Amino acid sequence: MQEEHRQSLKRNYVQLVKETPTDLVVDHLYQNGILTDEMREEILQNSNSYSKTRQLITTLQRRGPRAFECFCTALTDEGKSSLVHLLKESKIKSEVSKDRAMLPIGGDIFVVVNEWRDKVLIHIRKYEKNSAEVYVPTKKGIALDLNQWQLLEMYVNEIEEAISQMIDDVTGVPEMTFHLGRGVYVSVNKTYPTVDVRQRWKIPETNQIVSTKKGISLTYDKWEALKGTFPDVRETVPEIETTTPCILSEDHQNQEGMLMCSNCNPFAEPL
Ligand SMILES: [Zn+2]
Repeated sequence: MQEEHRQSLKRNYVQLVKETPTDLVVDHLYQNGILTDEMREEILQNSNSYSKTRQLITTLQRRGPRAFECFCTALTDEGKSSLVHLLKESKIKSEVSKDRAMLPIGGDIFVVVNEWRDKVLIHIRKYEKNSAEVYVPTKKGIALDLNQWQLLEMYVNEIEEAISQMIDDVTGVPEMTFHLGRGVYVSVNKTYPTVDVRQRWKIPETNQIVSTKKGISLTYDKWEALKGTFPDVRETVPEIETTTPCILSEDHQNQEGMLMCSNCNPFAEPL
């Protein structure tokens, strides 16, 4: 289930417990394959409607991306469209309605999954509210493709290690960097206690590689929150399961393969 939906269930918890016709809704969800027979039994064996609903809401949250919509449909079918209205109204409004997910990590920074020209992009981006109180994206942030996002996930432990080394000041180096591909680097810096995800660029006809404005610096608490979005992103981007980062592919097991790859070696001079 997407984080925004989870939040919405949380915000409307009291109302849901009061008004959900749980027995009927559970039957709907069972028929639609959201709940297994076992789960249905477990929920219905609770002695009162309060416990039933509470268990239903907890169970729903680990039943995949369709669970929320199916729950809403069931409520509507049972004449509880006012509840559905509440659930949907209170979700975070995003200007681009085709966003697959918009996960808050603090300070109006969101992890947003959307598609651009048939490609899935995962943004780490600062938003601001416009006059209609709707969140709109700002330029402050970065869009990662699947390969880059997977590498970010892969490097998490190393990045964590780098953070603690920077805090303890054991290495003596001012900065540690991790290449996510296509010139996007994660850097952990001693002077600024942040995790910076940023596009770098090679000045043409020189060997100079410089940082650009495209990127975002995350304080450690936001970095923590970002890590917390990994399971939700995986849930909304099933493509991740079927995509292998190029760095793990056969032809990358020798150095030549990596040098030939525009993900891994983006600043190569054209031959
Ligand atoms: Zn590569």
